Amino acid sequence: MPKTTPLESWIARKIGVSDGELTRESIAEYQLRKLRETLDWARSHSPFYSRRLRKVSEGTPGSFAAFERVPFTNATDLQEHGLQFLCVSQGDIDRVVTLESSGTSGVPKRVFLTTADHESTIDFFRVGMSQLLKNGQSVLIALPFERPGSVGELLATTVRQLGVRPILCGRITEPGQAIEMMKREQVECVIGVPVEILSLVRTGGRDVPSRFLNNVLLCSDHVSDSIVRAIRKKWGCEVFEHYGMTEMGLGGGVDCEAHAGYHLREADLYFEIVDPESGLLCQPGAIGEVVVTTLTRQGMPFIRYRTGDLSRFLPDRCACGTVLRRMDRVCARKSGRVAVGAHTEITIATLDEALFCLPEVEDFSASIDSGRPSKLIVTVYGSGAKEDLQEQARAVLERVPEIDVAEKTGELHVIVNAVERRASTFTGKRRIEQRVA
Ligand SMILES: [Zn+2]
Repeated sequence: MPKTTPLESWIARKIGVSDGELTRESIAEYQLRKLRETLDWARSHSPFYSRRLRKVSEGTPGSFAAFERVPFTNATDLQEHGLQFLCVSQGDIDRVVTLESSGTSGVPKRVFLTTADHESTIDFFRVGMSQLLKNGQSVLIALPFERPGSVGELLATTVRQLGVRPILCGRITEPGQAIEMMKREQVECVIGVPVEILSLVRTGGRDVPSRFLNNVLLCSDHVSDSIVRAIRKKWGCEVFEHYGMTEMGLGGGVDCEAHAGYHLREADLYFEIVDPESGLLCQPGAIGEVVVTTLTRQGMPFIRYRTGDLSRFLPDRCACGTVLRRMDRVCARKSGRVAVGAHTEITIATLDEALFCLPEVEDFSASIDSGRPSKLIVTVYGSGAKEDLQEQARAVLERVPEIDVAEKTGELHVIVNAVERRASTFTGKRRIEQRVA
């Protein structure tokens, strides 16, 4: 029986109910009060929100239904009005996290956090990480850490509070070096980006790089089952998953020992799933766009912020027994769906599941040229004979139902290349590049 997520007693404490007495009702009551406080705080302190919320009457929301009528915000608002989101003076800001835009505008998004805001994230990380690490252990953190407020720096601060030694190695560009570090430092845990951890699994030889290794935490990008399976099989360790984005203060949710969806940071964030087209709330269990509202943020609150991530709430109770909600793994970005035929779409996740099942594939890139037929160009990077890799990749892609249908109707032409492992140029989240032919 999996242990109850440690987030439960942490959230109970934050909400002010005794451990074991947390209920959905007590969470809802707290969240509704915090939503009202957030709207009042934002409207009276931020120039952007005083305009955006001018039609929203005071004391709103009186109910969750009333909250559904509050206007959305999105990444474009943040890019265009950045500093106007602020509810405090710039002197009260402790950390600025800059996110290079992956969109066409090229304007970076900047998220401003006060000391209390970023300590709240450290608090969440500490509770989440307590599932994976114990006093006296070491962890390899394969995430950016150079800038103040970066996720690696925040995690290092967090694990030190647990009495754990952080080994900071940054994003993995040389798997061999990272494996040497794991061996030398005898780490019990590794935190990193899914495809980069896969590169360690695939290039690391037969042995587990640390005989002490118990846990891996995947974060910062889409997680596919094929990657989780490959890590478990090769290293025989537990694989946890984290969901977050800069706007959430980097941390949003983490799974428990049951590994069946993220438990969310419900005392700090209120999540909704909406239909991406209509903006109306989805039925429980239906896939839609994740919308987040901060409940305790001082510096730069976000209200009904459309994340662009697609997921769903899992309706049943988690096997760990908690009353906390579960959100399914993010299945795609809204902008990440590309048409491969008149009625079919694929995402990077579709290709991940197919290609990462091949043991020789370390990574791949994909692009689609619109045209008639449209062309899906996939370049796989891996070991072994180039021709074999190319053939195997083509075979698994042809078994993807969406690709199969589009190829048979003549709407899609698939081109597969295979090359040796590329020099890493990882930046943001992986996706299928779209090109107009
Ligand atoms: Zn659970």
